[in-house]
Amino acid sequence: MSEALGILRALAEVEENLHKLAGRLADIAGEEERLRARIARTDQDFARRKEEHKKLRLTAQERANEVDATDAKIREYQRKLDHDIIPYKEMEFLREQVQVLRSKLDQLSEEAIRLMEAVEEDAQKLVADEAEYRERRARLEQEIAELQRKREELGKSREDLEAQRNELISRLPLSLRQHYERLSERLANPVVYVDGQACGGCHLKVSEATLLKLREGREVVTCEHCSRFLVLRWG
Ligand SMILES: [Zn+2]
Repeated sequence: MSEALGILRALAEVEENLHKLAGRLADIAGEEERLRARIARTDQDFARRKEEHKKLRLTAQERANEVDATDAKIREYQRKLDHDIIPYKEMEFLREQVQVLRSKLDQLSEEAIRLMEAVEEDAQKLVADEAEYRERRARLEQEIAELQRKREELGKSREDLEAQRNELISRLPLSLRQHYERLSERLANPVVYVDGQACGGCHLKVSEATLLKLREGREVVTCEHCSRFLVLRWG
């Protein structure tokens, strides 16, 4: 019987480690998900930044086109005034139009120049922003790669622990093994430590008689509430 108790103690430790490992793997999965969401946000932010620059460039181009169109109109009117024979009223009208268009042209030209300067300035800023964006993205990718490496490592540890568990189970006397297998159909941890006076599996308080049997360490003890095997922690 003492050999069976030794096996159960070893199983409790292996199962506790497997439980901790599952928790760490879940943490890693959550962290990876958060990092992927951050990458998606970073991409979106930079796409928006590029779109803003494109809009600014477009506005500047539109203003430049207006300057050209206004200038062409002035030339056209001026040519009429200089070369065509036209009625006095129309001539007056065209002269007036040329005046209006000239003052509009000045204003448009100023605007177009200011916009072009803004585009150039923003283009330089965009280069810096893109470098920063690429750097941030690479950093996040690196963090994900690091998590994946850790996950693989933990996955190997889990395989090792599962192999250990199987080996321990195979060494249990038949009746105990059958009880273990029945428990494992519905529970992840058929063998647990007693924490204080409570079963480490169902967390209910176990009886004094059960605790006494555990302390004596002469027989296999199970929880009277959930039937898990109970063992005492060393030391
Ligand atoms: Zn229990």
